[in-house]
Amino acid sequence: MLTINQLSKLISKYDKPVPRYTSFPTAVNFHPGFGSGDYIRSLGELGPIKPVSIYVHIPFCHQLCYYCGCHTKITHKNQIISNYINLLVEEIKIVAGRIPYRLDISRIHFGGGSPNYASIRDISKILDYLKEHFNIHTETEIDMECDPRLLCEQNIKELCMLGVGRVSLGVQDFDIKVQKAINRIQSFELIAQHTQVLRREGIKSINFDLITGLPEQTSETIQDTIDKVIELRPDRIAVFSYAHVPWIKKHQKILGRYTLPPPSVRFSLSMQIRECLKKNGYKQIGIDHYGLPNDKLSVASEGFGIKRNFQGYSDDQADTIIGFGLSAISQFSFVYAQNTVEFDVYSRSINQGQLPTSRGIKVSREDSLIRDIIMALMCLFEADISRYPYRMRIMNLLEDLQKEGLVELKGNILALTELGMPFVRTVAAVFDPYYEQSEGNRHARAV
Ligand code: SF4
Repeated sequence: MLTINQLSKLISKYDKPVPRYTSFPTAVNFHPGFGSGDYIRSLGELGPIKPVSIYVHIPFCHQLCYYCGCHTKITHKNQIISNYINLLVEEIKIVAGRIPYRLDISRIHFGGGSPNYASIRDISKILDYLKEHFNIHTETEIDMECDPRLLCEQNIKELCMLGVGRVSLGVQDFDIKVQKAINRIQSFELIAQHTQVLRREGIKSINFDLITGLPEQTSETIQDTIDKVIELRPDRIAVFSYAHVPWIKKHQKILGRYTLPPPSVRFSLSMQIRECLKKNGYKQIGIDHYGLPNDKLSVASEGFGIKRNFQGYSDDQADTIIGFGLSAISQFSFVYAQNTVEFDVYSRSINQGQLPTSRGIKVSREDSLIRDIIMALMCLFEADISRYPYRMRIMNLLEDLQKEGLVELKGNILALTELGMPFVRTVAAVFDPYYEQSEGNRHARAV
C-alpha cells in the first residue's frame, strides 16, 4: 500500500503531456505531405467484405464553452449551418464516387460541435445522401453527440424517428459555480427531463460526458455531481480530464483567472468518481469509460472486445471509419486522413469537386505492430509485446516502470498493475517512437 507521499511523487513524476492514443500514429504526427491524392488512392483500395463506419462532423455551437478543445464555430445563423450541410452532402457524393463498391455501414456517428444544433431537415438530408451511396440497414446504429441545452421533447422525437439510437449528452458538471466558470449553464432538472424523454422515446443507450480538472471543482462538488448522475443512471459515462492548452485553444485563457485543480487533486477526483461508479454497479471500461453491465460497451468489453478510436472507446468492430466534414478524420488500416479545419478551404475544395484532405499519414508495418500493442494497453491494460520492433530501446524504461510498481512483465505479456492503470497513457508512450520527437505541449497531461 503506497503512502500519500509516495503517490504524490508518482503523480508529479508522470504528470507530463502524453497523447490520448485514440489513434496510432497520433494526430500530432499527421503531416501535410499526405494529401487528397493519397486519400483517393486509399478509398480506391477499400474492399466490399467488411462493413465500415461513418463519422459526420457538424462543427457549430450556439455558445462557446471556455474549456472547449473541439473544432467548433459559434454561429447564430441557421443559413450558415444549412450551407455547410450542402457542402457536406457533396463531399459524401465525391467520396462515394471514389470507392469501387457500395459499402455496408455498421455505424454512423454524428460528432461536433453540437450536431443537434443542425435542423432535423439538415440531419435528414445527410442521412438521405448516405442512404443513396451506402448500404444502411436497420441494424446500422446511429449515434449523436447532443448539447442538452438545444434539445426539446419534439426534436428528441424527430431524432428517434430518423433512427438515432444512442445519444451522448454533454453534462460535464452539475455544480453551478463550475458551470458559470466554464460558461455552460444547464440545470440538473433539464438533464433529468431529457433523460426521461430519451428513454421513453426508445433511445437504447444514453451516455453522459463528465469532465474533471475544471475550475471550482472540489471533492464535494464532484460528489454532488456524481450522486446526481447515479440518480439518473445513464447507460454509459465517459469521464474526461480537462486538457488546458491555451497556447492552442486561445479561448481557454479565460480560465486562467481561476486556479485549476493541481495534478494530485485531479487524480483524486478521478479516483473518487471511479470508486463511486463502481460501487453503484458501473463497470470500468478502459481508462475513462464506465457502463452498466447490460450496456453494449460493457458487454463488448467482456466478450468480443472494444476498440479505441477518435470518439473514445467503442463496441463498433469496423476497422474502417470514413469521416465527413470539417476536420473529420478517416481511419483505415494503413492510413489516417484528415480534412481541413479551415472553412474557406473546405468550401473551395468541395465546390471544385475535390476532396478537402489537408494532412494524414500512411501507417507503416512497424506502426501497425506498435498500434496493436498501444491499443491493447489502452483497452485491456495488457499487451503481448513480443512483436515490438524496437525492444532494446525500451527495456530500461520498462524496468523503471516495474520498479515503480506500475507494470508487471511476465514473459512477453506486459500488464498494468492496479496502481499503474491511471498511468496507462504514460506506459503506452514508452512504445511510441514518435513521442520523443513530438512537441510535448500539444498533448493533454497524463493525470
Ligand atoms: S458544446 Fe461542445 S463543441 Fe460546443 S463549445 Fe461547448 S464543448 Fe465545444
